Amino acid sequence: MDFKKISNEELNLRLEKLARSERKLTHVILLHINEVDSRDLHLKMGYESLFSYLVKALHYSESAAYRRLQAARLLKTNPEVAAKIESGALNLSQLTQMQRCLQAENKRGTAVTSQKVTEVLVSMESKSIFESEKILATEFALPAKAKEITKPQKDETIRIEFTLTREQFEALKQAQSLLSHQCPDGSWSEVITQLAKKFNQSKMGKGNNNPTTECSETAQSNTATKKPSMAPRARYRSAISAKTKRYLLAKAHQACEYQAPRTGRRCQANFQLEVDHIKPLALGGEHRAENLRILCRAHNQLAAKKSGLRRFRLGHPH
Ligand SMILES: [Zn+2]
Repeated sequence: MDFKKISNEELNLRLEKLARSERKLTHVILLHINEVDSRDLHLKMGYESLFSYLVKALHYSESAAYRRLQAARLLKTNPEVAAKIESGALNLSQLTQMQRCLQAENKRGTAVTSQKVTEVLVSMESKSIFESEKILATEFALPAKAKEITKPQKDETIRIEFTLTREQFEALKQAQSLLSHQCPDGSWSEVITQLAKKFNQSKMGKGNNNPTTECSETAQSNTATKKPSMAPRARYRSAISAKTKRYLLAKAHQACEYQAPRTGRRCQANFQLEVDHIKPLALGGEHRAENLRILCRAHNQLAAKKSGLRRFRLGHPH
């Protein structure tokens, strides 16, 4: 492309046109994201979440993926957002701000009508991020944002910064006092590591207690809460022994074993792990280790949906 032959006016017109096309494309992308979500396509392709799919399969940066995801959610509940994106009256960052507020309100049990959302969005049109934040703060009484930082450093140590509520801090202080024999210097890093070791040991047995591995796994995770966890579906809880669970977790390398049928991609999420019956109990499957596997919650739910379909078909009179 030879820019030397283009006048300033022409250059500006071209760029305006490209920006318009980009906004139109953004809207179409959000619609596609919602369709992928409604089909569980990201799960079927071996990704544990839409966020993971956007980052790993579509190569968005984490912040770009987060903004698109939040805007897509808002588009679902407030379809009028589409026209605002295309006209440029609202951008993805503003929609993300709004969606975060709605999630916070939802967490507090406050229902916000879509009428109210529409009104607030109108007042945010063509405003800066700072001005939008101010509008949202007055409309929704936002809680202060506590940012958590997990940063790998040069010497392979990891710096973590987070804010505790008074209750959380008191609980940690009590643990520090109870652990004062094992951690006489009482440093928080030692106390937290000791707690993690004890927890891991209770879940994984003595042989599998490796805090270094736990740290590196945690650092790679994209999710907000990062400890690998193990919660078998409640109704099977008593039937699967702790020994079997430990064996299954070790065999799965503490990660989801879901494999995408077409590509063979393995999910490998280490968040909210659960025990799944490959052949469901309702279809004659057993509690034996050969019929059990480790899945993340999202893939366990996908498997449950599928087996629900199978059950329906089998039970349906032909
Ligand atoms: Zn998974």
